[in-house]
Amino acid sequence: HKGFDVDLIRKDFPILDQEVNGHPLVYLDNAATTQKPQAVIDALAAYYQADNSNVHRGAHTLSDRATQAFEDARVVVQKFLNASASEEIIWTRGTTEGINLVAQTYGRANVQAGDNVIISAMEHHSNIVPWQMLCEQSGAELRVIPVNDKGELQFEEFLKLLDDRTKLVSVVHVSNALGSINPVEDIIEAAHKLNAKVLVDGAQAVAHWTIDVQALDCDFYVFSGHKLYGPTGIGALYGKKALLDAMPPYQFGGEMIEQVSFTGTTFNKLPYKYEAGTPNIAGAVGLAAAIHYLESLDRESLIAHEDALLAHAQTRAAEIPEIQLIGTAEKKVSVMSFLIKGAHPHDVGTLLDQQGVAVRTGHHCAMPIMEQYCIPGTVRASFTFYNTIEEVDALFDAINKVKMFLL
Ligand code: PMP
Repeated sequence: HKGFDVDLIRKDFPILDQEVNGHPLVYLDNAATTQKPQAVIDALAAYYQADNSNVHRGAHTLSDRATQAFEDARVVVQKFLNASASEEIIWTRGTTEGINLVAQTYGRANVQAGDNVIISAMEHHSNIVPWQMLCEQSGAELRVIPVNDKGELQFEEFLKLLDDRTKLVSVVHVSNALGSINPVEDIIEAAHKLNAKVLVDGAQAVAHWTIDVQALDCDFYVFSGHKLYGPTGIGALYGKKALLDAMPPYQFGGEMIEQVSFTGTTFNKLPYKYEAGTPNIAGAVGLAAAIHYLESLDRESLIAHEDALLAHAQTRAAEIPEIQLIGTAEKKVSVMSFLIKGAHPHDVGTLLDQQGVAVRTGHHCAMPIMEQYCIPGTVRASFTFYNTIEEVDALFDAINKVKMFLL
């Protein structure tokens, strides 16, 4: 696609063309998972139709082809993140597994009683609980960077929490619950001055703009394929080679070993050292297809379109006094979390669904930040490039009906 034609783009996503509860589907739950273009569906089918085999077993042609496709996909992810080598890309099931991997390998090997790990108040549970467990296991302290009422991370407070016993800072690039974009560049620079390592949870960032891990200089970067128009069950962990080399393995079994005997085992080189068992080969192939698809689009105009959708939604929201926006950071992506005063978010979600509008309701796996706002959850509409201004209007038409029904 040259330039940007949303009608043309929508044709690439067959799922969008359907009715739900008698209304055209308006899919506004992209922060939970994105839809898959035909190119990804085709790549998955083609892999299973023609190449399916186990990888790195080498003895026959199909296995060679599967291995080639799997390793080519790794290079696609490497280039997508601008990592310096493909061995710095570890396949995972997704963001959650990437964070657990780092907590249980880098964390277990480096974090001790008296040390501290820093996260922020707006983290997804998957970037809270692994560190909480590590701190319980090691006797280290978990410190939390506060977030203001607009949903902005308080950088000055972060600097106060950071000290020479900080071993790791793990922060979300973009909040899934609020849409806030965090100043990860500044966080990384400040942390490195005190020799702390930094993990960036990129689950919500990768779909919106290009990521350059070398420019960021982060130590670890994690994301999930399914939020990037790829399949579920596949994701990647980027880690700096020296760190990955030094860390102990995560899971044990086939693929990750070099030599096994009953007297002891030696481990495989990177990246296989962290990839025990038969991997999600088709998932990797599908993720590479998703990245190719995304890169075939003009990403600048995608961002401009998403920003326009958010701006339009915010204008429409401002016209409705009963709407309370949650998370109004200056820098945010196309996510609108809100409440309709006097209505429970779940009821709003159900009534929107009856009108064909798919949103997420609840705590968005970020209970602590909901607690800070003293709310049980929000209604979240998350827009992406295949959404249209008309769909934003359909959301607000539906909201007006919900108001009549509930208020
Ligand atoms: N972090 C953030 C910011 C997320 O949005 C999500 C998914 N909602 C995750 C982590 C977890 O990702 P996954 O469930 O794909 O492992």
